[in-house]
Amino acid sequence: MSSALQRRRRGVTRTETQGHLELDGRRIPCLLRRSSARRSLAMRVEADGRVVVLLPLRLPDGPLMAFIQRHADWLRRQLDRVAAFQDPWHEGGRLPYLGGDLHLTRAEGVIHPCRDGDRLLVSDPATARPAVLGWYKAEAREILGARLAAICSAHALALPPWRLSEARTRWGSLSARGVVGLNWRLVMAPASVIDYVICHELAHFRERNHSPAFWRAVAALCPDHATARRALRQNGGWYFQF
Ligand SMILES: [Zn+2]
Repeated sequence: MSSALQRRRRGVTRTETQGHLELDGRRIPCLLRRSSARRSLAMRVEADGRVVVLLPLRLPDGPLMAFIQRHADWLRRQLDRVAAFQDPWHEGGRLPYLGGDLHLTRAEGVIHPCRDGDRLLVSDPATARPAVLGWYKAEAREILGARLAAICSAHALALPPWRLSEARTRWGSLSARGVVGLNWRLVMAPASVIDYVICHELAHFRERNHSPAFWRAVAALCPDHATARRALRQNGGWYFQF
């Protein structure tokens, strides 16, 4: 921690310290606001992803670290939420892919975006958006098509025709002609979420509604659909930023 700033007003001493905290190997900017009037700890995440911790003036580091550890899951969720509103089009920018993160990385001589572990190599991160969206769609065509075929084969279902969808709000659809639509942004989500959306649309072949009978058909194909739906609700806003 560094650059402490001290103020005193009406007998209350306040200090502000800029620093970083470590979470899952990431360094996250953090502002510690200490006040002699405070008795308890509180934490919030600003829209720019900076963590602000409010704490008593003389609280030692031990209890502070324990507080952050105790709220690590909450902190991860908040950071994912604000990541949706951060511009990823810069060196190191964070892109969702199959439930994990890719980091945009400048590489000489790269014509088409190309994945290397958890890096997505591009010629220039600042102008890579159209090329990266094209790359996502090509990945989606391959991965979603393979999952659809695998699920149909596992449940002895006929493989339906399908297309990649560009919908702004929907993850999947089933047309009156029996064509399954799958949103290309699904390739940003974990495999379990992709499978759930596919099972959801396959279940619509039996029930063209969202009745209890429909949800029984979904559960027969995808027993843990509730977890996948929760994950979609949590991260959907981020995926639909693209
Ligand atoms: Zn549905």
